[in-house]
Amino acid sequence: MSKRDYYEILGITKNVDESEIKKAYRKMAIKYHPDKNPDDKQSEEKFKEAAEAYEILSNPDKRRKYDQFGHAATGSNAGAGGGFGGMNMEDIFSQFGDVFGGHFNGGAQRGRRVQKGANLRIKVKLTLQEIANGVEKKIKVTKHIPCSPCKGSGAQSGTAYSTCSTCRGSGQVTRIMNTILGQMQSASTCPSCGGEGQTIKEKCKTCYGDGIVNGEDVITLNIPAGVAEGMQLSVSGKGNAAPRGGIPGDLIIVIEELEHEHLKREGINLFYDHYINFADAALGTTAEIPTIDGIAKIKIEQGTHSGKVLRLKGKGLPDINSYAKGDILVNINVWTPQTLTSEEKKTIEKLKESDNFKPNPSKKDKGFFDRMKEYFE
Ligand code: ZN
Repeated sequence: MSKRDYYEILGITKNVDESEIKKAYRKMAIKYHPDKNPDDKQSEEKFKEAAEAYEILSNPDKRRKYDQFGHAATGSNAGAGGGFGGMNMEDIFSQFGDVFGGHFNGGAQRGRRVQKGANLRIKVKLTLQEIANGVEKKIKVTKHIPCSPCKGSGAQSGTAYSTCSTCRGSGQVTRIMNTILGQMQSASTCPSCGGEGQTIKEKCKTCYGDGIVNGEDVITLNIPAGVAEGMQLSVSGKGNAAPRGGIPGDLIIVIEELEHEHLKREGINLFYDHYINFADAALGTTAEIPTIDGIAKIKIEQGTHSGKVLRLKGKGLPDINSYAKGDILVNINVWTPQTLTSEEKKTIEKLKESDNFKPNPSKKDKGFFDRMKEYFE
């Protein structure tokens, strides 16, 4: 099937000027307009055909090429098999809506912008216990909720929407500017309806037409184990309601970690500083170490140095991305007395003379560097 000549489609001759092309297109567009010919496929084809012809002929550059090379010059608008695949109805209304000159609603209900509610961010404070095990939290949030008298529509009951008179329902306004490069079209959001394509005849008295009011909602959050300070979880659709029945925003949960009384966190591992006295370090002892779910007992060997790290395997936090579990690393500190009685002084001075009191680190313990390496293995 070969394409009809664009001039023929608009019923004009080759030497007409721009204003006559526009006038001819307007006549065709009104004649075949879908509002005037509902559910008429043939009229719709003619309507599209005229729009395509106008798109080419109203542009001086495209028109010149078309005059020279025919349909082959118009590139992407020449749809496969010579059909009129180049423009859909929405394109036509948004680009050429102004040509119809207020005759019709244009693209009422077509391609209007749906409003989206704003995202809502809230902080949730979690203890280390809650982080270790995961937790279900019910939280009360203050946010925009749909207005109940108008069911979120923004319209006073019994009254409906009407098509925006500024953009004739397309949600966009088109301006044609003459530039040195020829005519340029710029489309922007309709200022009257904010792109929605419709306005309310009589606004709801509760929400003044917004369809939303300030309210409260109780939301149940399922927070997985292993989250960390600053992490964000998004709950789709639980943010602010959108004006006039649009899509609600998301609820963004920002995790805040409450400090544990004894344990410090580093990734999935927990750190604990344990102090023993000099005698226990020399003689050996057992120690009680706080963990997330109670107390763990550990053995401290005789001859333990300050700075020795003991590992409680698997007593740390779960990794949020895997089945791995961290450890508790217990750092042993040997407490050196700050004050001594004269009796104690004498005893220690006696002990000082013994060969066993001479430091000999190379014989027994790991150095600082090796201990630090072990932390991060
Ligand atoms: Zn309302």
